[in-house]
Amino acid sequence: MNQKALFIIFGGTGDLAYRKLYPALFNLYEKGYLKEDFAVIGTARRPWSNDHYHEVVMSAIEDAGRDSGRTNDDLPRKFANHFYYQSHNVDDVDHYVALRKLADELDEKYQLEGNRIFYLAMAPRFFGTIAGHLKDQQLLTDGDGFNRLIIEKPFGRDYPSAKELNDSISGSFKEEQIFRIDHYLGKEPIQSIAGLRFGNALFNSLWNKEHIDNIQITLAESLGVEERAGYYETAGAMRDMVQNHIMQIVSLLTMERPDVFDPSHLREKKIEAVENIQMYSKEEVDQNFVRGQYGEDEFKTQLAYRDEEGTDDNSQIETFVAGKLITHNPSLDGVPIYIRTGKRLTKKSTQVNIVFKNNDKNIFSDNPDEKLETNVLTMHIEPDQGFTLEFNTKTGNQGYKLSPVHLRYRKTAAEKARIPDAYEGLIRDALAGDKTNFAHWHEVAQAWKIMDVVRNTWDAETPDFPNYVSGSMGPQAADDLLTRDGREWVFNPRK
Ligand code: NAD
Repeated sequence: MNQKALFIIFGGTGDLAYRKLYPALFNLYEKGYLKEDFAVIGTARRPWSNDHYHEVVMSAIEDAGRDSGRTNDDLPRKFANHFYYQSHNVDDVDHYVALRKLADELDEKYQLEGNRIFYLAMAPRFFGTIAGHLKDQQLLTDGDGFNRLIIEKPFGRDYPSAKELNDSISGSFKEEQIFRIDHYLGKEPIQSIAGLRFGNALFNSLWNKEHIDNIQITLAESLGVEERAGYYETAGAMRDMVQNHIMQIVSLLTMERPDVFDPSHLREKKIEAVENIQMYSKEEVDQNFVRGQYGEDEFKTQLAYRDEEGTDDNSQIETFVAGKLITHNPSLDGVPIYIRTGKRLTKKSTQVNIVFKNNDKNIFSDNPDEKLETNVLTMHIEPDQGFTLEFNTKTGNQGYKLSPVHLRYRKTAAEKARIPDAYEGLIRDALAGDKTNFAHWHEVAQAWKIMDVVRNTWDAETPDFPNYVSGSMGPQAADDLLTRDGREWVFNPRK
C-alpha cells in the first residue's frame, strides 16, 4: 500500500539526511511504497536552490549505491523533483510562517490530505524550539491527516535532561505521534528476536529461569573513535551504546510473551521488562560494572584513545563498558544478563548468547565430576546474521562419547543484500503509523535511570585509564565479572 505524506526534514543538508534518509526514501519510492503523492521539504541554514537540492539528493542516491546498474533511468530525477528546499534558521519565527505556506501549497499540489512527518535530523538541543514553533505557527494539520515527529538519538544525556527534552516536545506532540529512532530496532536480526522466542515451541518453552543460566550481549567494535572524537568525548560508551541499543536488546530478550504481537502489547511488555531490571546501589555498581579506555596495541602501531585527534590528553571517557544486570521479570527472575561493548576490541561482532543451564547428571561418564558441555544459542547480529546452536551429540566409535557440535544458520551475502536498510524500514513504519520498532518514552526514561546510578558512581571517582590494550577484549575486570560467578564470556575471539 502506498502512503501519501509531506516530509519536512530539519537538517536537510546534514550527514544523516545525505547518507541515510534520501537513499531510504528513494528505496521506498522505487518499491512503490511512495508513489507520486509525496513531497519533501528540506530545511537547513544554507541558502540552496531547489535545483541544487535535487542534485544533492541524486548524488546521495548514487553514493549509497542505490543507482547502480540502471541505464537511462530517470527515476532518481523523477524522485528528486519531489524535493523542495527552504533556507531556515530554527530560531527564526518568520521562517516557520514561510514553511507553513510552502507546506500548505505542497499539500494541495500533491493531494497529501494533511499527512505530515517532521523529521528532526538535527542536534537534540533544537528539538524543543522546533516542536514549539511547529505548533505555534500551525504547521501541524488539524483535519484527518496525521502529524508525526521522528527524532534521532541522543535522547538526553541522563534522566533529567531526557525528561526536559521530552517535556519540550510533548507540549506539541502526543506520545503516539513521537517516533524515537533507535536504529538497532530497525535491524532485521534484532527484529527477529521476538520471532525466534515466541514463534518456536522449542525456545519458547525453554525461555525461563529454570532453563536459562545467563544471557550475554556483546557489541564489539574493532575500530577506535575515528572521526567522532568531538561527540564521543561528551558521550562515552555508556551513553552511546548501552543506554539505548543494549537496553533495547535486553528488553527484547527478557520481556514476557505478549498476548498479541502488535505495537501496543509489545510496548507494554518491553516497558515492563526494562522496569524489572534491578536498580543498583552505588556499592552494587562497583561490583557489577566495569569501564575501560583503550591504550595502544601491543605493537604500538595504534594510538591510545587519549592520543587520538580531538580527545583530551587526560580524558576520562570510557570506550568500554561491561556489566551484569539482573532481571526480575517473572519468567527469568534472577537470571543475570552480562553486557559488554567497546571500541578497539579483538573483532567486530554484535551477538547475543543464551547460555542454558547444565545441571543434568552426565550419565555418559563414569566420572561424576565430568560435566556435559553447555548448550548455547547464539544470535549473530552483525556482521554475520543468523544463529548457532551448540549441543552435544555422539561422536567417534569407541565407547559412548559425547562432543559438542554447532548447528549453524547464516544469511548469505545475497540474502543480506535484500534486507532493507534500517532507515528504510523505520521510515516505512513511521509512514504506516507502526510504532513497534521505536522507543517509547517510558523505556528511554527507565533505561536512563538505571544508567544514571552507574554514571554517578563513576563520575565520583577518577578511573585508572587506559586500562586495556587495543586489540584485546577489554580490561581484565570484565572477564573477572563472570569468572567470580563461575562463568565465562561465550564470545572470546582470543581463545
Ligand atoms: P550534521 O551536523 O551533519 O547536520 C546538522 C544539520 O542541522 C545541518 O543540515 C545543519 O545545516 C542544520 N543546522 C544546524 N544548526 C541549525 C540552525 N540553527 N538552523 C537550521 N539548521 C541548522 O549532523 P548529522 O550527522 O546529520 O546528525 C543529525 C542528528 O542525527 C544528530 O542529532 C545526530 O546525533 C543524529 N544521528 C546522526 C547519525 C548519522 O549517521 N549522521 C546517526 C545517528 C544519529
